[in-house]
Amino acid sequence: LPEEFVKAQPIIDTIEAAGYEAYYVGGSVRDTLLGLPIHDVDIATSAYPEEVKSLFKRTVDTGIEHGTVMILDHGTGYETTTFRTESGYQDYRRPDSVKFVRSLKEDLNRRDFTINALALKTDGSIIDYFDGLKDLKAHRIRAVGDPEKRFNEDALRMMRAVRFASQLNFVIDPETVAGIKHHGGLLTKIAVERIHVEFVKMLLGQWPAMGLDVFMETGLYQYCPDFKPYQAQFNQLRTELKSGMSNETAVWTLLAAAFNLSSKQVNQLLKDWKSANQLIEDVQVAVKAVHGIATHSVDAWLVYQTGNELLSIANEVAQKLGQSSYETAALLDQYGALQIHSKKALAITGQDLMAAGIKPGPQLGRALNFLERQVVEGQLDNQNKTLLEAAINYLNEKA
Ligand code: ATP
Ligand code: MG
Repeated sequence: LPEEFVKAQPIIDTIEAAGYEAYYVGGSVRDTLLGLPIHDVDIATSAYPEEVKSLFKRTVDTGIEHGTVMILDHGTGYETTTFRTESGYQDYRRPDSVKFVRSLKEDLNRRDFTINALALKTDGSIIDYFDGLKDLKAHRIRAVGDPEKRFNEDALRMMRAVRFASQLNFVIDPETVAGIKHHGGLLTKIAVERIHVEFVKMLLGQWPAMGLDVFMETGLYQYCPDFKPYQAQFNQLRTELKSGMSNETAVWTLLAAAFNLSSKQVNQLLKDWKSANQLIEDVQVAVKAVHGIATHSVDAWLVYQTGNELLSIANEVAQKLGQSSYETAALLDQYGALQIHSKKALAITGQDLMAAGIKPGPQLGRALNFLERQVVEGQLDNQNKTLLEAAINYLNEKA
């Protein structure tokens, strides 16, 4: 077993010694069986939350109403969740109530896909009630039980299906695909923030086309904010995208560029997807750089305004769209060779200009902007004396 499981074993041992059952469950089990690295180890147990808490010294109630307790006794925190069933789902999202149960099978039965419904014991044996191992071997995503019912219970699962397809290079079982086709519209009941997380994970996955195929063919995309008009562009991306994007900024920059959005439209799209302001700003800047790259008009001013990180992202996006003839390293060199990388690095300040007799006000600001641009473009050396002379000439010409 991977060391993450070995490290967590004292937790399971403690719970078992008290007479309860405990297993590793969820993504870490699936990923281990696939030979993939794992992130967080999740533990499911027959012990009720209060029983779990009584067994350990340091615990945090991270989601105690859902049965989740974080155990801190062994270094990194481990999330332990009591076996539970869910019922209700009146609003196609959260269950109305969760009920704690003592049976592992019932707990696994509420999970979304068979590959996510496996349990692992500390001796390495696997408990597989729903043919998850068979699906894992077949590289298949299949809902636990009746897909129609499962998507009706929780519509987010449809987005989870396409993101796992993209992350794992798995196909989605035809009946599960049919369920998505029939229930796509329920996605509008789900909080945009949660759809956002799954959508981005899909495009960060190594095989985005695997997810996008089903996302498009089932019509699921239509029920995501603002995506409906872009069927053709998405279908194009599906064939062009041979690998995943490297981060979230790249994901949205790709869409903005592929959809040919104006700056205002980018803002609207990202607002509708409940994105953070920083992300919106970054995407605006990166999109501008993509245009510069695509039209082969990258100059010093553009690389300066874009900055290192967004420059790499913009070129990644332009390359994915087949619109770049630049090497990323060359663009970064161009950036690195600039005399300054921020206005603060100018060898002159507003104070200096005032000391030389220039009056404070908009003129002074304009003079500094002029100097900034001239230095970035290499027309002026970044030296105090040179810049002072240039500022005075600039203002005299204006006068
Ligand atoms: P990742 O590697 O991305 O974390 P994961 O499979 O661990 O993948 P999580 O969102 O961390 O996904 O959820 C942990 C487990 O909880 C899943 O493997 C699945 O068994 C169950 N699960 C999560 N979300 C749902 C859901 N919406 N419906 C049913 N079961 C779910
Ligand atoms: Mg997980």
